[in-house]
Amino acid sequence: MLKTIHQKRVNAKNENRERKKGTSIYLLLWAVFSVFALAIVIIVSVALTAVTGQAYRDEAEQEVREKGSHLRLVVTSQVPDSFHTMSEYVRYLNTSYGVDIFILDLDGSVMYPERPNYELPRDFPSRTQELKTHLQRAGTSSIVYERPNAFVYGATITLYDNREETVFLYVEKSLQLVQAAEEQILLRSIMLGTAVFFVAFIVSSALSRLLTRPILEITEKAKTFATGNFDIDFHGAAYNKEMIELATAFNYARDEISKADTMRKELIANVSHDFKTPLTMIKAYASMIVEISGDIKEKRDQHAQVIVDEADRLALLVGDMLDLSKLQSGLQELKKTVVDMSAYVHEIIDRFDYLRETQGYTFILDVEDGLFACVDEIKIGQVLYNLIGNAVNYTGEDKKVVVRLKTVDKNTFRFSVSDSGKGIKKEDIPTIWQRYYRSNDSHKRPVRGTGLGLSIVKAVLIKHDLHFGVESEVGKGSTFFVDFTMEE
Ligand code: ADP
Repeated sequence: MLKTIHQKRVNAKNENRERKKGTSIYLLLWAVFSVFALAIVIIVSVALTAVTGQAYRDEAEQEVREKGSHLRLVVTSQVPDSFHTMSEYVRYLNTSYGVDIFILDLDGSVMYPERPNYELPRDFPSRTQELKTHLQRAGTSSIVYERPNAFVYGATITLYDNREETVFLYVEKSLQLVQAAEEQILLRSIMLGTAVFFVAFIVSSALSRLLTRPILEITEKAKTFATGNFDIDFHGAAYNKEMIELATAFNYARDEISKADTMRKELIANVSHDFKTPLTMIKAYASMIVEISGDIKEKRDQHAQVIVDEADRLALLVGDMLDLSKLQSGLQELKKTVVDMSAYVHEIIDRFDYLRETQGYTFILDVEDGLFACVDEIKIGQVLYNLIGNAVNYTGEDKKVVVRLKTVDKNTFRFSVSDSGKGIKKEDIPTIWQRYYRSNDSHKRPVRGTGLGLSIVKAVLIKHDLHFGVESEVGKGSTFFVDFTMEE
């Protein structure tokens, strides 16, 4: 036994550990949101950089091509009068076209401008070589090509004042601006990415709080429920559809568990209540045999018979209590048969003979013969027994109990039991049918009870669909009644 409990605890611990390994919704949402945001930012920035970069490149290429062709015409024409030298003219063109213009001789040396606006790059001779190679490969007199960080327009030309000599026109458009733009896009993408990360963080926290709040709430409620609080309601404010379904399922489980728990409690209470009465009688008759009737055969046999009957009744009750608790939870059907109620009432009254004989109780019977009803005999027997037992318990000093079985109309007859006790206050009448209700003065009663008698009566009669009730006047006594449907 101890080992099993220990094993269970170990299992529970392992289970908890297993559960703790699970990723929290919060982290999961955050990860998903962040990865999603990151993916979008990367895709957008890569696409944007590529598209914009390409557009800039195309534009630069187009520009160098157009300006190059135009400059080719310009530099091969006569230098305008306003310029003193070719160098001056080229410098001017350089500035006004926004591109680098050089006129190179066939060796690759810069002819014009003689003093460029800026220092020539160190690799300039190799660029001339590059131009020559491109022109040769294309087999044309002009070409546009891309070199690292620049587009170049190159052409073989003859200058206006020296038609004999072939020279090169070299026009270069730098791509530095394009690169700067690409860098800007990248920088903004990183900033945007950081911002999106931040937004994803806030949104995922808010969303996860929204999603996990009801789960945490239900978890807390389940813990309270586990301590035996069946009043818990798993529904909560502002639950979404899925959470409402979950809460409804929990509530259903709660109701079922609570029903089973109530059934268990009722069974124990009912069993003890209904066992006490016959046991008391068995004990009383056994004492009577010992003390009074031991030597008087006739009396002794009669008393012994009551003991046998009560023992039988106990045996019957063992099975019956189970049936009853099922009946109260709506699980059991009645076993109805046609019962001679007139004879049955006599039979039940006989069980109280010991009270007549030992304690001076008087039972006045007004029982019509030949009244039949279709009922569950054992359960209705229990009802009549409980009602008569109560009348005995609560009757007045005269110790009188009146039992009647009388026709009401052609379809109905009424069983009633009256006592001359102190009666029941009007406001108490609804509560006496409730389970576990007991008046305070329940000590020292001839028929012992646990406060369940009337709730059993009520359950059985409701199940039979029979009309029943109590009429009581404080100080005068009470009459409990049941109306049976006449069976031909
Ligand atoms: P018990 O009699 O064991 O207490 P019952 O369920 O049979 O349990 O009765 C519930 C309560 O109803 C009693 O405690 C008592 O207060 C009241 N009661 C029942 N029958 C009578 C009666 N005949 N006269 C007065 N009070 C009664």
